[in-house]
Amino acid sequence: MRTRLVKDTIVVETADTIYLYAQATRKVVRVHNLCPEIQQELSDRGFFNTVPRSMHYRRPRKWTSLMLLMGKACPLSCLYCYAHGGRDSAMMKPEVADRAIATYLSTRPKRPKVTFFAGGEPALNVPAIKHVVAKYEDAVRWHMTTSGVLPLDWLEWLVEHQVGITVSIDGPPHIQDTLRPLRGGGKSSPIVERTIRTLVNKSGSVGVRATITKETLGELNGILTYFQSLGVRTVHIEGLYSLGRALESHLAALTPLTAEERTKLLLDGLDWAQANDRQVKMGSISYLLRPKVAGYCGAMQGQAMVVNHLGQLTACSEVVDESADEWSIFHIGQVNADGKLWVNRDKLHKLQQRVVTNMPTCRQCFARYLCRGGCPHKALAATGDVCQPQEQHCEFVRAVIPVLIQRMAEQAWLHYQISKKEVL
Ligand code: SF4
Ligand code: SF4
Repeated sequence: MRTRLVKDTIVVETADTIYLYAQATRKVVRVHNLCPEIQQELSDRGFFNTVPRSMHYRRPRKWTSLMLLMGKACPLSCLYCYAHGGRDSAMMKPEVADRAIATYLSTRPKRPKVTFFAGGEPALNVPAIKHVVAKYEDAVRWHMTTSGVLPLDWLEWLVEHQVGITVSIDGPPHIQDTLRPLRGGGKSSPIVERTIRTLVNKSGSVGVRATITKETLGELNGILTYFQSLGVRTVHIEGLYSLGRALESHLAALTPLTAEERTKLLLDGLDWAQANDRQVKMGSISYLLRPKVAGYCGAMQGQAMVVNHLGQLTACSEVVDESADEWSIFHIGQVNADGKLWVNRDKLHKLQQRVVTNMPTCRQCFARYLCRGGCPHKALAATGDVCQPQEQHCEFVRAVIPVLIQRMAEQAWLHYQISKKEVL
């Protein structure tokens, strides 16, 4: 298989068929040759476009969302925790959360959204969450990503107050209790199952996020079937990366996935989703239908304001505070005690320049508009440079995109916003 980029169009050539994906118009097609007549017809039908202005880089001017890192305490002791959750018990005070939201709202975001996120387990910070949700309830869309280990009455309060919830869970009990045990060693699976069943009963559906290791990859079908049995409709799967505790651990269960295994994970996940009418997502290819010259990460781009428990702004939700080695790179500002926002504009501006057109390895890559250079933090951890992508990430993206284009053209069922009419 040979893949190249012609203007905006990715051309994938196999032994007997050529598949094309026009990124500006998001059309796919399969043809048997690219003779001048067919090329002309394809040009007339929305292929081989000059990359439009709308796909070019524009520096974000506004914060669109706010993420609050509620504290570092955690009831779990996940073997691979990226953020070293639970290493200390620092918590965001209600007044810090309040100031961060007031400051964010003062920038007049279009559809304000606040996410309670990790550093530890956000749901442990009951006082701060209750305070801000009660105060700003209707002005904001609320979301929380949680381990699912929280008391039932607290969970019900969150649902009643329209806090959308995503639960992190890695699979059925024998996997969950090994990879994500309670701090002190108990089983987390009964509590997390109760949380998911409650959310399904009360809100009709729930999304979960699962980390897959080399050892659990072979059980993917069982993992997805288990989620289905709990009533889950959308699963976000990610292969394990070497970060945080995963980097430090020498346990076999924490071996990161190779590019080949990551490809298998995605394709097997999509096959399962198709057969079972469910949704399976993976972060690294989330821009397949939104091709652009842009940054990979909203936090790095100055679109998502990420505030830690001390009121400091970080450009990466996984680099929480000064205890992280990378803090000096990602610390970009502060919500001060008087509510004034201070941002190190030079530093943020430099991070915002991390787009594929400024990254030497990416400039000529056929996947550049879909990949956007991948996660800067993972690049930094692997290569020591946010602008030098991780080799395994590139290997995965370059292997999987041609296969996905082929599948989009062959299988209109994927509904990738591409109608049957556009498949010749
Ligand atoms: S740098 Fe990577 S890990 Fe950090 S917030 Fe962005 S995408 Fe997430
Ligand atoms: S990170 Fe790798 S795969 Fe992605 S655009 Fe850059 S070179 Fe291509």
